[in-house]
Amino acid sequence: MEKLIINDIEIEISKKKIKNLYLSIKASDGRVCVSAPLAMSEERIELFVKSKSIWIAKKLDRIRKQPAPVECSYLSGDCIPFWGKEYNLELVYSHKNMVQVDGNKIILQARETSTARHRENIINSWYRTQMRAEIDILSKACQDKVGVSAAEWGIKTMKTRWGTCNISKRKIWLNLLLVKKSVDCLEYVIIHELVHLLERNHTKRFYSFLDKFIPHWRKIKSTLNNLT
Ligand SMILES: [Zn+2]
Repeated sequence: MEKLIINDIEIEISKKKIKNLYLSIKASDGRVCVSAPLAMSEERIELFVKSKSIWIAKKLDRIRKQPAPVECSYLSGDCIPFWGKEYNLELVYSHKNMVQVDGNKIILQARETSTARHRENIINSWYRTQMRAEIDILSKACQDKVGVSAAEWGIKTMKTRWGTCNISKRKIWLNLLLVKKSVDCLEYVIIHELVHLLERNHTKRFYSFLDKFIPHWRKIKSTLNNLT
């Protein structure tokens, strides 16, 4: 499958024995897919996608705004992943909201009246703080290695991407869910997105940069795709 990046949106292109172009956006994850006739040129496809860019942006915005379902109840005994390890949650009723790691446990302090959604929000804002600290450390080392730097690093929950790179603004977004994976995964995604500042598309040149800067990237990538 080919990929095109148009207005910072990744478009998956599959060529088929068809007469017309079809554009679709998967409601579950916001993937933008184009089916195109076998002989159609990349320029034609690009022109078509660009003519639909307002429609695509509106659809993606709507998908992004859907609140994700609560993943677990965040009660004592629940499993909380953090940097590739599973921790046992211990819920302590308290007037303050706090999260602490204690050996194999993650202690969550929350009000007795809190809902699963409240507790999820407390955990997520803690995750965000932890991830920000790790990005601060890793981004410096990775930028030195790759020889380019991003103007800004953002964190958000994404349904289909571990990271994205806005090349014109030099802004890199990293998926908050990476905080559940090993730190190696975060390092790989940081390097992958930095390499996009050298090479926009997933070309041979792109992968040769990955081989140079993070030779074991294939192994890391496979664990990223296998885990959920
Ligand atoms: Zn990429």
